Amino acid sequence: MIYDLHTHSTASDGSLTADELLAFALGHGVDALAITDHDTLDAYAAISACRSIALQVVPGIELSTTWNGHGIHVVGLNINIKNDTLLGGIAQQKSARERRARKIAERLQRLGVDDAFDSARAIAGDAPIGRPHFAQHLVSVGLAKDTRAAFKKFLGAGKPGDVRDGWASLPEVIHWIRAANGTAVLAHPAKYRMTNTKLGLLLKDFKAAGGRAMEVVSGHQAPNITANLAQLAQDFGLAASCGSDFHDRSQTWSLPGRFTPLPSRLTPVWKQW
Ligand code: AMP
Ligand code: MN
Ligand code: MN
Ligand code: MN
Repeated sequence: MIYDLHTHSTASDGSLTADELLAFALGHGVDALAITDHDTLDAYAAISACRSIALQVVPGIELSTTWNGHGIHVVGLNINIKNDTLLGGIAQQKSARERRARKIAERLQRLGVDDAFDSARAIAGDAPIGRPHFAQHLVSVGLAKDTRAAFKKFLGAGKPGDVRDGWASLPEVIHWIRAANGTAVLAHPAKYRMTNTKLGLLLKDFKAAGGRAMEVVSGHQAPNITANLAQLAQDFGLAASCGSDFHDRSQTWSLPGRFTPLPSRLTPVWKQW
């Protein structure tokens, strides 16, 4: 069984619709898939019934939060997508995203970037507005040659467009996931570029708040990073999850199902479902 428990659709910043994503994942040998869009469950309303039969779909979401000034993502898996507490939380995150987008646009305006809010809003369509939509605007007006460059210059860590405040707290987002009978998973721990000491403090707080698993494998990852995360999962008594963080087929390092298996000594997150 190949589980890919972290992917994105057009309901957030991915480029495939939910149905296209399911077909694409199936074509890549995935047996169980979680669509984990940023702060939205809209992908689940977009899945047509005939599609959901061929592949096991694990209902999921990726929630944005901050911890000690770091932008952190928490994946909720095997959630009840109709739970009122979770839906209320998502509504709150949606407003936070709009306010944050206004702030990002103001900061870009000061750098001479015009119309960023309206343009990013239009690019996002019905999806919650995020930095990738601002990146597309910057590319379309010729201020960055591609998304990568837009993040490097304007939107990435420490740049003016990296607005981190406004999200619900770590305990809050974990609470929403648990209220929906889901498993809270710390997403892509290596992406935060923390020392092991700092990551340990985060994992301690995460566990104390009810977090139960962490992504030990996230897309294409160096073996020494996987080994380190596997050790942390064991040390903190957390189950292990894995996912590609797939957004777009051009990103060949994060195609559905294309990552190394979880180290066999760990407890996979799906064991408890
Ligand atoms: P946001 O939800 O607005 O904070 O945007 C976060 C998303 O931006 C991530 O989920 C990625 O899809 C994308 N992203 C973050 N950093 C980069 C980067 N350096 N290059 C390209 N995309 C990025
Ligand atoms: Mn994303
Ligand atoms: Mn993420
Ligand atoms: Mn993601």
